[in-house]
Amino acid sequence: MENVQVACDSCGTQLVPNAAYCEKCGARTRRARRLVRVAIRVELVFFVLVVLMVIGFTWIYAIQR
Ligand SMILES: [Zn+2]
Repeated sequence: MENVQVACDSCGTQLVPNAAYCEKCGARTRRARRLVRVAIRVELVFFVLVVLMVIGFTWIYAIQR
């Protein structure tokens, strides 16, 4: 599975297990950064789906007239 990050990438402080942020310097852990990337991707997919739906309905409306 995922390799657990034990120390902060920025300052080297030992991290609490499954921490999202470093307690000392506030830097995001690798796990948190990955989750943010996944969240952004999911958001983009939803945005594209909504845009495609609007385009699709506009197109259906246009050819029905
Ligand atoms: Zn740190």
